[in-house]
Amino acid sequence: MPKSRRPDQVSLDELQGAGERTQVRLNKLGIFNLQDLLLHLPIRYEDRTRLTPLCALQPGQPALVEGDVELADVAGSARRALICRISDGTGFLNLRFFHFRPEQLRTLTSVRRIRCFGEVRIGAHGLEMVHPEYEALTGTSSPPLETGLTPVYPTTDGLRQQSLRRFVDQALRLAEPDQEDPLRLPPRLAPEFDAMSWWDAVRCLHRPAAACPAALERARRRLAYEELLAHHLSLARFRQEIRQRSAPALSTDDTVKATFQSGLPFSLTRAQRRVIGEIETDLRSGRPMLRLLQGDVGSGKTIVAAHAALAAASSGWQTALMAPTELLAEQHFHTFTGWLRSCGVSTTLLTGRLKGQSRKEALAAIANGATGLVIGTHALFQESVEFHRLGLTIIDEQHRFGVHQRLALRDKAHPDAALPHQLVMTATPIPRTLAILGYADLDCSILDELPPGRTPVVTRVIPSTRRGEIVDRIAAWIAGGRQAYWVCTLIEESEALQCEAAANTAASLAQALPGLRIQLLHGRMSAAEKDSVMRAFKAGESDILVATTVIEVGVDVPNAGLMIIENPERLGLAQLHQLRGRVGRGPGSAYCILLYQPPLSTIGRERLKILKQSSNGFVIAEKDLQQRGPGEFLGVRQTGLARFRIADLTRDADLIETVGASAEHVLKHHPELVTPLIDRWVGRGLHYAGA
Ligand code: ADP
Ligand code: MG
Repeated sequence: MPKSRRPDQVSLDELQGAGERTQVRLNKLGIFNLQDLLLHLPIRYEDRTRLTPLCALQPGQPALVEGDVELADVAGSARRALICRISDGTGFLNLRFFHFRPEQLRTLTSVRRIRCFGEVRIGAHGLEMVHPEYEALTGTSSPPLETGLTPVYPTTDGLRQQSLRRFVDQALRLAEPDQEDPLRLPPRLAPEFDAMSWWDAVRCLHRPAAACPAALERARRRLAYEELLAHHLSLARFRQEIRQRSAPALSTDDTVKATFQSGLPFSLTRAQRRVIGEIETDLRSGRPMLRLLQGDVGSGKTIVAAHAALAAASSGWQTALMAPTELLAEQHFHTFTGWLRSCGVSTTLLTGRLKGQSRKEALAAIANGATGLVIGTHALFQESVEFHRLGLTIIDEQHRFGVHQRLALRDKAHPDAALPHQLVMTATPIPRTLAILGYADLDCSILDELPPGRTPVVTRVIPSTRRGEIVDRIAAWIAGGRQAYWVCTLIEESEALQCEAAANTAASLAQALPGLRIQLLHGRMSAAEKDSVMRAFKAGESDILVATTVIEVGVDVPNAGLMIIENPERLGLAQLHQLRGRVGRGPGSAYCILLYQPPLSTIGRERLKILKQSSNGFVIAEKDLQQRGPGEFLGVRQTGLARFRIADLTRDADLIETVGASAEHVLKHHPELVTPLIDRWVGRGLHYAGA
């Protein structure tokens, strides 16, 4: 095995015994080089360091035993099995194999003594092991026992534990004790880990000396820490690179701004004025703005975005606004057009629905600068769209896109041209600790105040045993001229089942409420179908929208003031809060009914109570985080965070602040470590969610 090379530079070809087919299997496990192999950690360990006398076996416990073969035969008529009985002078044990090859029978009848490992259980004729691993013992003395715990790895068809163990052994030999870790973290960066190098941690996890859970967890944390640090640094490096570039200086003339604001049907909240100020400072600076705007559903992010677009247009630059769905893009188009018309800013809508001549005209207006603001879906950033002078990009509902797409967008800029400013907006409140990790490349603004005069949504927690009452209540509600949502939450990870559940609910509601117009919306419908259902609902052409959680994104249907959420206990609080944000957007009262499946655990009841008592997304998010930990908080896809190999946001939440501080220190005092750390962990491309 070659020495003094970084394991990520050593290919699998150099592993002895790993032919082409084995390599394909390793690839399936995400292993492409020896470093991947070293980071492929055991899921558990087995203790094969000592033999257990047969008389001391405990049902339910795994054990390593040795004994003389008393008999081996095929038995049973209904279910044939190979039975082998061993004894060691203290007791007996039966080994049972339901699947076996003829030569297994031959071996077992011909050998005298075997050693085997398996879990003991109570069988029909005393204690037994089903399908134990075994090894025939030849000669007079037994082979030596293992000296440390035996790792059990996650594996795939055709790749045996023993092979994986052998490969890992070879990889571990890369680091002979005399070898320096080429990537040694500076001391006191994170004192907890000072005494342990990367290699120490890796070695400990693959070959633990003893069954010491605390030592194993310390080693795992050591790696998790470094992984989080590397991801953080990779975002921070993006940020640094961007900050060194120039950007157009954008600002709005005071009189233009006054005209604009006097045309609005409301006055801005204090929070909106503050955030607009933060954005204006960035836009004027001549350096690219990278700003995340967080604000609860309905906090008024759109008008903030309009101020930014106005600054760009006033300075002769274009803005591109990207929304996650066509319907939302259209909604924005109407809103922005209404607001900005008075200032002479022309707006263009560019979605997949736009075809033929009108599409050509739109593209021409974008290319020749006739339009100041282009609104669309991700189609906006396709190759065929050429901007005249793109000065600002705005991404709405960022969590729908993920870090990966956000970063990909930046790559669209010409390498030496001035970079467009970037404003990213999200209604998903991101707790501070998570923001440190997932948005290290962005500055943060927060709209922490709702515009006045909102109808508070009354939230009720009701058991599904009272479903009949709720259905009656919907009938009365709709008779009063209003509309309602009925949200079906997921039963399993399967989207198909989820859609089926929604379809069944729609059917049973149709039966219970004849004469009402009920429509169905779910994730398996095409974008065009979803769009037309949403449109009909918005236009008041249907009464009840039965939907899966796909309706979460910000479409406004002010007349729909009632939402029933079935099985809310299955969702995160933040997601429930998002869903609830769909109602209470118009005049009249608004209700959200959480129709849970009893019995509810104490924690489950507590969680729903939080939702009933609070309508502040940040409070809810923090509570959710405390209760469930960040890993569960939103799910990877929703936070747009990276997928990690070792780190687990639930277990390692307390490391996140340390990681933030360490990253700053490394950037300032040990910049030479940045690239190797990123190479080691982020390596072959960014493993971001949605990638
Ligand atoms: P979100 O932050 O969820 O995107 P929107 O920008 O869609 O929220 O705003 C929600 C609603 O509140 C819109 O109808 C908008 O016109 C209105 N609104 C925004 N700011 C104010 C304000 N300062 N006073 C009153 N209404 C406002
Ligand atoms: Mg919005």
